[in-house]
Amino acid sequence: MTTQTGPASAGGSGQPRAGDAAGHAVRLSPPDLRPWLGGGLRGVVTRDSGLPGPHAALVALMHGNEIAGAVLLDSLLREGLSPARGRLSFVFANLDAFARFDAADPTASRFLEEDMNRLWAEEVLAGPPRSLELRRAQELLPFLRTVDLLLDLHSMLLQPVPILLAGRSEAALALAREVGVPSLVVADQGHPTGLRLLDHPHFARGPARALLLEAGLHWEPETVAVMREGTLRFLAAAGLLPPMPPPPVPARVARVTDTIVPASHRFAFVARFRGGEVIAEEGTLLATDGEREIRTPYPDCLLVMPALRPVRGHTAVRLARFA
Ligand SMILES: [Zn+2]
Repeated sequence: MTTQTGPASAGGSGQPRAGDAAGHAVRLSPPDLRPWLGGGLRGVVTRDSGLPGPHAALVALMHGNEIAGAVLLDSLLREGLSPARGRLSFVFANLDAFARFDAADPTASRFLEEDMNRLWAEEVLAGPPRSLELRRAQELLPFLRTVDLLLDLHSMLLQPVPILLAGRSEAALALAREVGVPSLVVADQGHPTGLRLLDHPHFARGPARALLLEAGLHWEPETVAVMREGTLRFLAAAGLLPPMPPPPVPARVARVTDTIVPASHRFAFVARFRGGEVIAEEGTLLATDGEREIRTPYPDCLLVMPALRPVRGHTAVRLARFA
């Protein structure tokens, strides 16, 4: 591998490399993570300032196909990013799914056996290791309990508008406002199908705090750029890097009020929503679910991450109201 590759080349040439049948272009190349896989806990690299301070962690590849986070962490590691105070850990979560990443079928490697970001309830983690993903979550758990501040790096299939998710924690919400990039901050309750890492009690009940950055479309260099800015601001807010000037646009907070979960197999959106849309009119029809109509419950309703193909029992879209 090269040792002096800048983030632009690590982030791909900007030319479409490949795409899947649905036309999702892949403009990033999966990085070579072999330099970071040695040591104690596989896929975890920790840099210690030697000075007192918090332990912050940056997590990539919770979803194996979301390679933008891995591109960024690989770049930051190669650039020699180290904390000025405390400790900084770089975590590559679902390495097994990432190993199967194929630009010709880039959505297939989100996970191998089950979604790793739905496994973070204590009772699930304490249960038998029923999948590769759960075994990996159990392997990472003792380490994660040592983390004070965590940023989980994700990307999206449809929604081009980046958002910073704070979960249910008011302390995390305050941190997200301070990070401020992206400027759209969403307080949410997660999914009916299981807890995400930021919902784990260690973070959700504090004093540790976790944020989830949905930085943009999956395989775009622009997504890596948003992640980089958000990550450096997160580390400054965490006190690991020197303070940064405030972001150009003040943060705007929206709270999820409704998680729309199809009750039938006949759920359909009335338009091709991508997420990030703000629907001005209260009562606007968004979707039908058999006989049920789903309408905006208030004016200026924010649509958060609609599913491409809504499935009964799984989140189809979340609705959020600006604070
Ligand atoms: Zn994800």
